[in-house]
Amino acid sequence: MSPVLEQPYRYQQRELVEPDWTRLPGWAQVTAAQWQDVQWQRSHCVKNTKQLREVMGDLLSDDFYADLERDQAERATMSMLLPPQMLNTMVPATDDAGMPSAGTEFTQAFYADPVRRYMLPVFSDRRTDWPSHPKAQRDSLHEHDMWAVEGLTHRYPTKVLAELLPTCPQYCGHCTRMDLVGNSTPQVTKLKFLGKPADRHTAMLDYLRATPTVRDVVVSGGDVANLPWKNLEAFLDQLLAIDSIRDIRLATKALIGLPQHWSAPDVVEGMGRVTATARARGVHVAIHTHANHANSITPSVAHAAKVLMEAGLFNIRNQGVLLAGVNDSPEALLDLCFALQDNAGITPYYFYMCDMIPFSEHWRLSLAQAQELQHAIMGYLPGFATPRIVCDVPFVGKRWVHQVHDYDTAHGISYWRKNYRTSIEAQDVDALSREYVYYDPIHTLPASGQAWWLEEANPVTTHAAAMTAAAASREASLAQSL
Ligand code: SF4
Repeated sequence: MSPVLEQPYRYQQRELVEPDWTRLPGWAQVTAAQWQDVQWQRSHCVKNTKQLREVMGDLLSDDFYADLERDQAERATMSMLLPPQMLNTMVPATDDAGMPSAGTEFTQAFYADPVRRYMLPVFSDRRTDWPSHPKAQRDSLHEHDMWAVEGLTHRYPTKVLAELLPTCPQYCGHCTRMDLVGNSTPQVTKLKFLGKPADRHTAMLDYLRATPTVRDVVVSGGDVANLPWKNLEAFLDQLLAIDSIRDIRLATKALIGLPQHWSAPDVVEGMGRVTATARARGVHVAIHTHANHANSITPSVAHAAKVLMEAGLFNIRNQGVLLAGVNDSPEALLDLCFALQDNAGITPYYFYMCDMIPFSEHWRLSLAQAQELQHAIMGYLPGFATPRIVCDVPFVGKRWVHQVHDYDTAHGISYWRKNYRTSIEAQDVDALSREYVYYDPIHTLPASGQAWWLEEANPVTTHAAAMTAAAASREASLAQSL
């Protein structure tokens, strides 16, 4: 018998389980056929507290709804939009403890739930000392500044991001594109694309035809699952006709939040046509999805991933976001990675550090915490499925967290370098020698660092000041792009 060594993380193969949606009062009569129907899922999304009450009945206490409404009114940068599939993974009651009793017990479990914490944020989740970092910005990655044509971000030398549409089937509280994606909230009036979708898509394709140094296109949004399939297929067909394009990645969290979309027969058939063309031309078409917790990986997700791979996709990869209270432990990260890799055939690929958008401080981790987590998850997964934890440094791009050039841990300021110019730096002779910065959440700093920010950094501690600072960043960005 081989000895079983004690390890910091204990690997176990686990079976995926679809939580029983009939445990929730509003869905007690919903059949399996309805549940698997994408139209039923889309038409029963939860968009406000009234609809949440209709589903949850008396499971949740009134205090929770008040907390949620206050967040929507005073803090939320994304409006509420939860497909039933996603809501059903909160307090899944699939372990031995079973279903918490209605009222206080269920409400406490709901507050603590990792999927709830980022998909349905409430006011009491957020920090009151530093709700926003003083350097937080609406478009914190400055994607808009790097638009080659409207919605096409050209940040890296050989790859671009094509934002085909500004909506998703689900809205994540921490969305880095909160500037543009989704409906306006009381706090955030969203930027609107000026061009018509067809005109914007044509301009993107024209730019790519004229720019043969670009070989890789992330087709994104929003979420491509919200584009009618015929429109997405038409765009992909034109992309596939451009000789220089070798990789196409479709960005869709819906594989996790609304897998019924991706397993619908018309979509699978369409994907088969697209991948057949891609194979004939030697182009790799992959899906990049976004799961942050193992509870989101259910048999419906695994089924959708399986039928898409059978339809000819080259790969499905996961790009999660590192979020406090959701997945900020080695166990949570590895449980998710093994659920993806073992059970769904989805390759764990990246975990991003949460970007510096307004009101995100309660989700963000420091660079040092991210480095520790990267260290802790090494060695368990196959190398090709060991995710890199990356910091998306403004004006730079993704950097592995151990690539930091210099790190002032007292003030929580990390310094980064880069080895290429973005599209707006053609004339900038210092672009490759300059240091670019990223900031840790202030509440994670030693007392001396927190005091420094209070005294020196024009702190944005109040709600009004945070919104003014965020609005100023948007105006500066718009002015620059005119
Ligand atoms: S699915 Fe992606 S683009 Fe849409 S809200 Fe979530 S993070 Fe933002």
